[in-house]
Amino acid sequence: MNDLEYGTRDKRGDWRPKDPLKVGPLLDFPWSPIRVLKWLPAYFFPWNVTFMAVGALFWFFLTPSRETLQTLSWDWPLLLLLRNSALILALYGALELHLYIRRAQGNRFKFNGKFPSEQPSSVFWFKSQSVDNALRTFGTGLPIWTAYEVLMLWCWANGYGPWVVLGDHPIWLATFALVLPLIHEVHFFCIHRLIHVPILYKWVHSVHHNSVNPSPWSALSMHPVEHLLYWSDVLIHLVIPSHPLLVLYHLQITGTGAVIGHVGFDKVEAGQEGAVDTHAYAHYLHHKYFEVNYADGMLPIDKWIGTWHDGTKDGDRMMQERYKKKVEKMNRGAAEQN
Ligand SMILES: [Zn+2]
Ligand SMILES: [Zn+2]
Repeated sequence: MNDLEYGTRDKRGDWRPKDPLKVGPLLDFPWSPIRVLKWLPAYFFPWNVTFMAVGALFWFFLTPSRETLQTLSWDWPLLLLLRNSALILALYGALELHLYIRRAQGNRFKFNGKFPSEQPSSVFWFKSQSVDNALRTFGTGLPIWTAYEVLMLWCWANGYGPWVVLGDHPIWLATFALVLPLIHEVHFFCIHRLIHVPILYKWVHSVHHNSVNPSPWSALSMHPVEHLLYWSDVLIHLVIPSHPLLVLYHLQITGTGAVIGHVGFDKVEAGQEGAVDTHAYAHYLHHKYFEVNYADGMLPIDKWIGTWHDGTKDGDRMMQERYKKKVEKMNRGAAEQN
C-alpha cells in the first residue's frame, strides 16, 4: 500500500494522517444521528467485538467452576495468570514480531520514522525499550490484572456483590456491556489526568512515558501503582448489578485493549490491498507531546477541557499557545513570590 495516499511524511521520516482526528460523536455537539450511525461500526469492529469474543471464550471454557472459585488458593489463580499471559504474549508478541522485528511493512503508516531498537536509552532496563517494557508487563502488569480478576470471581462465587444470573436480565446486561468501553474511557481519563500531577508523574507515570516512541510492549509498561489504578475500573462490578462474563470482557478492554494506542502504526497491512485501522494516533500524540489527549477521543473529554490534539498543524499551534500561556502563568507566579 502507498501510505502517502493517506498521509504525509516529513523530513525526519515521521508520518501523519491527512485527515484530522475526530472525537467520537456520541456526546459531541452539535449532535448528529447520522454521524453516530456512521461511527458505530468502528465502535464495535474490530476491537470491542474481539474483546467480547475473548471474554466469552475465557468465561465459558477457561475459567474454573463456581465451587473452585469459592476458595482462595494458589492453583486456580496461577492458571488464570498463565492464560492471561499466554494471550498477551501471543497478541503483543505477534505485533512486535511482525511490525518491529521483521518490519514486515517497513515504516509505511509508522508515526515515528525511527524504530525504538535504533535508539537504545539508559532510561530502560538493559537499555532496551522492548525488553524493559515486556519485563514490566509480565512482572507486575499481568499479576495485578489477574489479582483483580481473582478478587472479582471470588466475590461472585461467594455471592458478595449485586451479581445477577446471565439469562435473567439480558437487556440490562447487554446495555451495561455496550457502555463498558465508555466507562473505561472515563475512568482512564480520571486516573491518567491524576498521575500527570507533577509529583505522581515523577514517581509513577514517568515509567510509562519513557517510551516516547511507543511500540506494542509499551502498552502495559507501567509503574505497579499505575497498574493498580489502571485496572481499578473493574471494581464497578461490585457496585452495579453485573455478571462475571462482563467482568472478563471489561478486563479485556482494559488489559488487552491497552495495545491499541501503542501499535505505533496507523494501519496494519493485511494482504495486498487490505489494512486494519489501529486507532492508535490519538494516544501516540499523547506519548509524543505529554500534555494532550489524556483520554482516547471516543468521548470528547479532551475537547471539553482544551487538551485535544487532532494531529494537524493547527493542533500543534493550539498546543503551543496553551503551553506558552502555562509558562507565562508560572513565570508570573514565580515573580510574585520573589
Ligand atoms: Zn500510553
Ligand atoms: Zn500520560
